[in-house]
Amino acid sequence: MKKNLDIIKENWQKIIEKMQNEFDISNISFETWIKPLTILKYEKDTLYINVPEEGYIPYLKKKYEKPLLITIEEETNIHIDIVFSTPDDIKEKTKITRDQKSRYQNAGISPTYTFDNFVIGSSNSLAHATSLAVAENPGLLHNPLYIFGQSGLGKTHLLHAIALYIIKENENANVRYVTCENLMNDFVNLISFNKGPEEFKIKYRDVDILLVDDIQFLSHKRALQEEFFNIFNTLYENNKQIVITSDKPPRELEDVEERIITRLAWGVPVDIEPPDYETRLAILRKKEDNLGVSLDNEIIKYIAQKITTNIRELEGALGLIIAKERLEKISITLNQAMELLDKTIKEEDLNSNKMQKITQIVADHFHLLFKDIISEKKGRNYSRPRQIAIYLINEKTEETLVSIGNFFGGRDHSTIIHSIRTINEQLKVDKELKNIVENIKKKIN
Ligand code: ADP
Ligand code: MG
Repeated sequence: MKKNLDIIKENWQKIIEKMQNEFDISNISFETWIKPLTILKYEKDTLYINVPEEGYIPYLKKKYEKPLLITIEEETNIHIDIVFSTPDDIKEKTKITRDQKSRYQNAGISPTYTFDNFVIGSSNSLAHATSLAVAENPGLLHNPLYIFGQSGLGKTHLLHAIALYIIKENENANVRYVTCENLMNDFVNLISFNKGPEEFKIKYRDVDILLVDDIQFLSHKRALQEEFFNIFNTLYENNKQIVITSDKPPRELEDVEERIITRLAWGVPVDIEPPDYETRLAILRKKEDNLGVSLDNEIIKYIAQKITTNIRELEGALGLIIAKERLEKISITLNQAMELLDKTIKEEDLNSNKMQKITQIVADHFHLLFKDIISEKKGRNYSRPRQIAIYLINEKTEETLVSIGNFFGGRDHSTIIHSIRTINEQLKVDKELKNIVENIKKKIN
């Protein structure tokens, strides 16, 4: 299926000529008003038409908008809206003021994840609608807004979109976005640099909207939980909006104080599910548009069929093919794309199987459960085997530190480096450890 924009562009000449005939437009009018029109862009079922002078717009709208709409529909079967604009107009509207930019930076967000860029489907429509409602009326409707779902489904995207929207609409709103991990870092830094909790409090309590990404990292962190509890209460009592994301519903958060769980569930948690086929297609097409590329439709369909549970991976697959095209300056065929994707996916499977296998062998060796090893459980009984598993995965697979971290319950890559170093150092002095590791290696091989 061709894109509407392409179809209209290809038929543009035909369309305006037909319009001239059917609507009896004189040659002079045609030359003056219609011929100079060019297509600027197509977005959300709206065709933006470039007009040479801003002064033309009211007249064009009054006299030629309807004829143009009718002719486009007759000629292409595409039903759309039309906006006449000058290029400056568009620039003006999408231009981010310097002031806004620094407010984005202060808030901790980047301006790429917007509501406009978010494709809505049945899997995420509730999360999207609730987010938009909160962005339009912060502090009034759902407080806190709690969005949960697996990794790669758009939670962070929605969080940023809310923040961006509020910053744009409310000049004075003090918005702060933070990942739970960074919240922890801030907390630790401020305490260890002896600035005391005051500064931490000011940073997070003096805001109008606080957005905390991946709250599951509160697990087991009692001191941070205490601080978060206080922040939450202060904000809530002052009708400030709180937005939270997590990979699980509040009740399933592990080792988080009951009083926090209760509060997180106050605003009715909404979940976000893996997208269906149609939504996956729509997301890929949107990304194509954003990147200004257009791949063969069969390739797009193939990607959407192949990658089903994670939008980040969906984008990754698209990126892979685009990169290959650019690098080799070729137009990739469906077969080549299939081969490329199948190979990559297989390698990924193989690697994640390897991670799983090694972790299972380590778990068996220490008589632990697989899920305990990858959990956040503390204590040497768990942390030592976990470090060994991480060390061995790093040695035996091509996995990146980040993906090892993800596999182990979303740990930061610095934690992974720390584990690898620790085992490395201890292997030099600890004979018993050396034996254990050798034994496990034999089992792996
Ligand atoms: P999560 O925080 O749930 O792990 P992200 O918000 O980081 O997931 O999304 C992963 C990637 O997928 C991002 O690049 C994001 O822009 C994209 N994405 C997710 N959902 C959508 C959607 N509905 N429409 C367009 N892009 C999406
Ligand atoms: Mg996220």
